Amino acid sequence: MHFKYLTPNTIPQAMALLARHKTRATVMAGGTDLVVKMRSRAIDPAYVVDLSNIPGLDFIDFNPRDGLNIGALASIRALETSTLVGKQYPVLQSAAHQLASPAIRNMATLGGNLCNASPSADMAPGLIALAAKARIAGPEGETFMPLEEFFSGPGKTALKAGQVLVGIQVPASQASMQAVYLKHARSSIELAVVGVAAGVILDSDGRSCKDVRIVLGAVAPTPMRARKAEAALLGKKLDDKAIVEAAEIAAGEARPISDVRASADYRTEMVRVFTGRALRVAAGIAS
Ligand SMILES: Cc1cc2nc3c(=O)[nH]c(=O)nc-3n(C[C@H](O)[C@H](O)[C@H](O)COP(=O)(O)OP(=O)(O)OC[C@H]3O[C@@H](n4cnc5c(N)ncnc54)[C@H](O)[C@@H]3O)c2cc1C
Repeated sequence: MHFKYLTPNTIPQAMALLARHKTRATVMAGGTDLVVKMRSRAIDPAYVVDLSNIPGLDFIDFNPRDGLNIGALASIRALETSTLVGKQYPVLQSAAHQLASPAIRNMATLGGNLCNASPSADMAPGLIALAAKARIAGPEGETFMPLEEFFSGPGKTALKAGQVLVGIQVPASQASMQAVYLKHARSSIELAVVGVAAGVILDSDGRSCKDVRIVLGAVAPTPMRARKAEAALLGKKLDDKAIVEAAEIAAGEARPISDVRASADYRTEMVRVFTGRALRVAAGIAS
């Protein structure tokens, strides 16, 4: 492993370094994914651009107009322990708590979890359920992109050359969504075999489904919405029969592979089970 370690103090400096060294440079945040890949020689960058010296990128902030803003360098542990996140968007606190171990959560950042673009990234399903947007800085300025469009394949994102993820924004309107993230893994510190986030907004009658999002992790090349299952629930009374049907549809939408963690068939069955469970909790008919 021979590389030059670069420590910009601002985002423009980081972008200038990325522009200068192009594909020979890699961004680093907490390093918990990157260093593993470098040590196994899966990647061999000539320059590592460490963002962690850039001040002001680890904030967690809520205001009623913009909603929740999280800096890309906010650690998973900070999300797990934030009373603000726990109060406004508890699904994100729960997802953070289910990611790896406390030691990893202290180093790992939200931006790194998303930019690593693992199909099983624990922070992605809950954020997509909450209609989060990625805040991206690049040579042409800052742009926002729906997070569900941010992932383009295993290990691949929509970030263009020289762009950096600087934060995540969760709309204030989603604070009324009852959302849960359930992770099914072989042990508490392993990657998900299946992860399911379900978010529901009930109508004023408290029974029928005004809005719903079902997001599946680890069962497709990217985190994916189970849109047919969502459509089957919209406007319906959210009872056990409707949930059983939607869970079945979601299982049919998943596109899992078999790997060391589980077979494709097992994953499909777990999508059915965990989608049903997540929807029941989100709908308030189970705990
Ligand atoms: C033992 C172990 C257990 C783990 N368990 C889990 C788990 O249960 N669930 C889970 O989801 N993950 C798990 N992980 C993976 C990892 O810890 C997380 O994905 C973590 O959030 C990555 O964040 P990081 O800051 O360390 O990213 P880094 O390793 O620094 O970066 C990851 C990737 O993102 C890019 N990147 C980072 N930040 C930015 C940015 N702001 N803009 C553009 N590109 C960027 C880097 O270039 C790199 O390609 C585990 C890892 C280990 C080692």
